[in-house]
Amino acid sequence: MSPQSPAPKVLIVGGAGYIGSACAVSLLEAGWTVATYDDLSTGHRQAAQGDLIQGDIRDRGRLEGVLRAGRFDAVMHFAAKSLVGESTRHPLRYYDVNTGGTAALVDAMLSAGIKSLVFSSTCAIYGDPVRLPLDEDHPRAPVSPYGDSKEMVERMLAATRAREGLRVTTLRYFNAAGALPEHGLGESHHPETHLIPLALQAALGQRPPLALFGEDYDTRDGTCVRDYIHVRDLASAHLLAMRRLLEGDPGDAYNVGTGMGTTVREVLQAVERVLGVPVPYEVAPRREGDPPALYAQADKIRGALGWEAHHVDIDDIVRTAAQWARAPRY
Ligand code: UDP
Repeated sequence: MSPQSPAPKVLIVGGAGYIGSACAVSLLEAGWTVATYDDLSTGHRQAAQGDLIQGDIRDRGRLEGVLRAGRFDAVMHFAAKSLVGESTRHPLRYYDVNTGGTAALVDAMLSAGIKSLVFSSTCAIYGDPVRLPLDEDHPRAPVSPYGDSKEMVERMLAATRAREGLRVTTLRYFNAAGALPEHGLGESHHPETHLIPLALQAALGQRPPLALFGEDYDTRDGTCVRDYIHVRDLASAHLLAMRRLLEGDPGDAYNVGTGMGTTVREVLQAVERVLGVPVPYEVAPRREGDPPALYAQADKIRGALGWEAHHVDIDDIVRTAAQWARAPRY
């Protein structure tokens, strides 16, 4: 983009969700124009930025019409089903929406002449780590239909890039966390399955004690280690990635994590420090499919896009999530 180019216009597919809405805000802050395409199956009308077009990711014709009519420059794609447990019970839903839906979207984009895409992937494509931290060349062996549905998309996008000249960057998120309370945006899943909102809600007396899934892992305190990344930092990664695509770069795949591992107990301690009250919890059996530790090697995105995480302190991440948990807007 030259300094004279008009600000890009981006369709945020799945933009009424937790991460999509945060990314849309970052684009708006950069002076870009956005519209949201979402079926509101798990997203929230109040979270959508720009015009909201209600539609299904699998509706190829609708998407093509929307892309043509809105004269969009690019697409960011967040629309997906993302519950690992549900994916093991209903695998076809995951392949249908996540894999099939992305095929429909990319087909619509190419028909409408739009070639730039940032796609939300996940560290779940790696499966159980054979080495840590997880780098982008780690073997890809997903252990759930959710991870597999995303891994299939990555291969599909790689093939389409080569054949159709699609410019696409895939961002492999670690554990998205935190909120943007200053924008009235935060995490609101029904049911909620994620550690930080559950721990906050338990501490605030909004739900029963947290079930801590396993304290007999081979980690520093026996509980699972994860790499919690603030949605704001995820959002800045999207902005940088899209800027580069719009300059003509073919795109690449990057991990987006802080590179720091935090145990479940350390998260609970952070919640206690932030709220000043203990988190009521009960130790429960391990949750099926949880690897002991997952954390990112994120040097590639730092080197290639100049990205940095600004919220690496777990207290900082939890603080924004706590502000939201006290007074969620939806
Ligand atoms: N966890 C837990 N109790 C809960 C939810 C999560 O102990 O009610 C643990 C889970 O076993 C994992 C970590 O918290 O080790 C993060 O889980 P989350 O579901 O937030 O994200 P995931 O790593 O599964 O994507």
